Amino acid sequence: PPDQLPQDPTKKTIVVLGSGWGATSLLKNIDTEEYNVVVISPHNYFLFTPLLPSVTVGTLDGRSIVQPTRHTTRFKTREVKVYEADCEYVDPINKTVTFEDRSEVKGSVSKVTIPYDYLVYSVGTENQTFGIEGVKKHACFLKELSDAEKIRARLIDCVESAAIKGQSEEEIDRLLHMVVVGGGPTGIEYAAELRDFVESDLIRWYPEVANKLRVTLVEALPNILPMFSQTLIKYTESTFKENSIDILTKHMVKDVDERDVLVKTPSGEEKKIPYGLLVWAAGNTARPLTRQLMAALPEHQKNRRGLEVDDHMRLKGAEDSVFALGDATATHFAPTAQAASQQGAYLARVFNQLARLQVLEDKLAASKKAGADASELSGIERQIEKAAKIRPFKYSHQGSLAYIGSEKAIADIPLLGNNQIASGGVVTFMFWRSAYVSMLFSLRNRSLVAADWFKVFLFGRDVSRE
Ligand code: FAD
Ligand code: NAD
Repeated sequence: PPDQLPQDPTKKTIVVLGSGWGATSLLKNIDTEEYNVVVISPHNYFLFTPLLPSVTVGTLDGRSIVQPTRHTTRFKTREVKVYEADCEYVDPINKTVTFEDRSEVKGSVSKVTIPYDYLVYSVGTENQTFGIEGVKKHACFLKELSDAEKIRARLIDCVESAAIKGQSEEEIDRLLHMVVVGGGPTGIEYAAELRDFVESDLIRWYPEVANKLRVTLVEALPNILPMFSQTLIKYTESTFKENSIDILTKHMVKDVDERDVLVKTPSGEEKKIPYGLLVWAAGNTARPLTRQLMAALPEHQKNRRGLEVDDHMRLKGAEDSVFALGDATATHFAPTAQAASQQGAYLARVFNQLARLQVLEDKLAASKKAGADASELSGIERQIEKAAKIRPFKYSHQGSLAYIGSEKAIADIPLLGNNQIASGGVVTFMFWRSAYVSMLFSLRNRSLVAADWFKVFLFGRDVSRE
């Protein structure tokens, strides 16, 4: 790394909570010359979530889609501190955060409180379980890298157990039933990757079990993928049908135990569905830390979905010092990487502008002290007036993309006015791949992802359990 300026106690401190889409986009774009930046996140890396479903079946290696946060901050003008820890308390009144090192290896210090001048709150969300106890106990989620690796191991376990000599037919049926809850893009993309794995790899190595493996997607609403156009919903449904993925719409999961999910069918009856692997992709909910921050500002924070911010991403009730972005906020933008990264880049511009403002204000004070003439002072004042005008955040929708299996993807791309192109198929899949490769933050990740795809093309996916 190049020589960096050390942190400077006379400069303002920005504490960034999180190392996901919002935080990383901010870190990439911020000029740190005028700030001390501190990043706190339980993961010391950024995870490229759009390709996470590919890790569940080994199309991609998990390492290929993560970027250490220190890689992002190493070329910054001033040193950025990165702490791998969980923030466990935010005090928006006294402007402090308390964080804890929860790793198994502990030193003499584990809990620390530090002050901030500005806080960037970008901790995302956790999985919505609707209070169903069995979900946390028995289902797999798909949010973190470790979730994808757990799904992969669990899938292979089911296949290997089903192949054990003497296993009863009923048990084979259960073990080889993969149930996905949630027909949003996470559930759809996971089911698609799973089907690819069965068709291309499992069939070669476990022919006797692969033919018996079933995939069922359960969705409470009347249709899947509500954010896509009707044509693409239909196209996805027919592609899933061709690939023998059963879609049960208007089926609401009410309970989960070790072996069965209990669903309410459209006719109102309750039915048990046995499963071997259950992937829960039923959406997001606010993290406990977010709820606690809301509770600290009860007059201003009343939305259960998440933090309320103004059009400059300032937290209502703490506008002078806290900015919140991404999934942790309750705005009219969908909780997507696209929105979070645009908000992160916007906030970086805001901080860069605030730094310019500070430099001009210091210059004005120094000029006044040195007895500068009126025209010089009014020149600086005009510059200050310009720098003080901060524009609100504006979202630019680039379209929605999703992988639906068998080398097919769907895309809703906005055109001028209110028009949009809805496209699905193999060409869209090529577009999907190239779009995501170009969006990966570094050459290192692009090379690793391209190499993984090439490896799978040559040798197929690895079916050994990690
Ligand atoms: P995140 O990216 O979730 O980052 C949150 C960060 O906070 C993480 O680094 C986490 O470690 C950290 N954190 C958690 N708790 C604490 C704590 N207590 N203290 C400090 N830090 C903490 N969106 C798209 O636009 N296109 C896609 O194709 C797409 N595909 C997706 C596929 C999957 C499988 C998933 C799960 C999501 C996908 N999304 C996609 C949605 C997208 O990932 C999210 O909208 C995006 O990650 C939100 O960014 P964020 O910065 O708000 O939160
Ligand atoms: P989601 O909220 O989009 O979908 C969850 C689905 O689960 C909903 O359709 C809901 O009706 C269903 N559901 C909830 N409870 C249920 C129950 N008990 N029984 C049956 N069905 C139930 O969640 P997601 O798919 O994880 O997506 C989260 C966000 O991330 C969204 O904004 C999405 O756009 C974004 N994302 C985008 C992509 C992409 O663009 N390719 C991929 C993944 C995620």
